[in-house]
Amino acid sequence: MRYISTRGSAPVLSFEDALLTGLARDGGLYVPETIPRFSDKDLADMATMSYEDVAFKVMRPFIGDTFTDTEFTALIDKAYSGFNHVVRAPLVQLDQGHFLLELFHGPTLAFKDFAMQLIGQMFQAVLSRKGERVTIVGATSGDTGSAAIEAFRGLDNVDVFILFPHGRVSDVQRRQMTTPVESNVHALAMDGDFDDCQARLKDMFNDHDFRDAVRLAGVNSINWGRVLAQVVYYFTAALSMGACDRKVSFTVPTGNFGDIFAGYIAREMGLPIADLVIATNQNDILHRCLTTGAYHKGAVHASISPSMDIQVSSNFERALYFAQGQDSDAIRALMDDLANGGFDLGDNVLRSLQDTYKSGRVSEEETSATIKEFYANTGELLCPHSAIGVRVAQALRDPATPMITLATAHPAKFPDAVEAATGVRPPLPDHMADLFDRDERVTRVSNDLASLKDIIKGGIAQ
Ligand SMILES: *Cc1c(COP(=O)(O)O)cnc(C)c1O
Repeated sequence: MRYISTRGSAPVLSFEDALLTGLARDGGLYVPETIPRFSDKDLADMATMSYEDVAFKVMRPFIGDTFTDTEFTALIDKAYSGFNHVVRAPLVQLDQGHFLLELFHGPTLAFKDFAMQLIGQMFQAVLSRKGERVTIVGATSGDTGSAAIEAFRGLDNVDVFILFPHGRVSDVQRRQMTTPVESNVHALAMDGDFDDCQARLKDMFNDHDFRDAVRLAGVNSINWGRVLAQVVYYFTAALSMGACDRKVSFTVPTGNFGDIFAGYIAREMGLPIADLVIATNQNDILHRCLTTGAYHKGAVHASISPSMDIQVSSNFERALYFAQGQDSDAIRALMDDLANGGFDLGDNVLRSLQDTYKSGRVSEEETSATIKEFYANTGELLCPHSAIGVRVAQALRDPATPMITLATAHPAKFPDAVEAATGVRPPLPDHMADLFDRDERVTRVSNDLASLKDIIKGGIAQ
């Protein structure tokens, strides 16, 4: 399997190189040249497999000869062994025909662990084989950073630097990033919002001298390995709902578009998905774009679902690439316009996107009301992000088709919002019970590329 850039002028790479590279050198995102398709028989076989076995079957065609089957099996087993639920991604029923896919049983309590735990294993295997070291720099609205730190802390071959927007992540999220004691972990609190963090990260990747000097690697969802690992739970969830014989729909609380794009890949691989629904908070650029075709950057408004406080959604470029019929010239033109503020999609592209995805937006008040309502009706405490998904799903779902809403984080990661809505403060699981007693270690940084580069160069283990 070969990987090509959405912007068409970066080198074509193997899975291994796409994994280590992250952002393509032409500024684009890597996508697989072809998407393999499963037969009905393949789907039927997977319906009775464990999470790990489905993971192997779904991802194997994408990894080429990067790992032998034995190696890959071992990496998958190790990646998910730290999860607190035997089926890894369990389903819970919320309402007639509406189910919640709990993706928060990993070590940092958000769905990001599904991909990050696996790519941590994959990075380590590849780098130790090559005898190389890399510097991972990530931008986070909260959950990617904690998941990346958990996956890479203490590994010999990586330094990990995480940029998060100062004052805009929850206390639990911040402490998950600032309390690890390993010297290869560097938490950087940046003045600005998440889009600023993500923009500086892209600047570092586009500064080829710096990129090569520190051997920069990226683990944001621009990294194809992240998206790939997330395809798996669409299969396990749909198949356990009987998707061999009927279609199911998914609603996905969306920020950077990595998670829902994984659903698109699952559908292209032959999983019978009816609707793929994007749910946004008040930072609703994706919902507006799907409705009107206009994609113009606005200010980010801090919300009670901070992991979705994003106005420039990096994986949307991958969705546009497929909606544009894999025309990289058209993508380059759109992204040039975006650099100058935004773009307006042509009718054909908009129609193609609308055929592929549905969308809805939820206000702050509606988010709280949904947390309250579902606690009262089901006893289920929803995190604010998951509540946004549940709300949009209730509004848009077709009663004849089972709807699966992705629960992207554990309610205990956002205790203030959950308590305000329900009066119940969700406790942290045992393995994190002392989170608020641990010492914090964090570097405050300004929104300035030159000083960030200096801090990173100075912090790398020599
Ligand atoms: C990252 C995150 C999202 C958004 O996921 P994307 O892949 O960026 O669209 C939603 N909810 C939570 C809790 C998250 O951590």
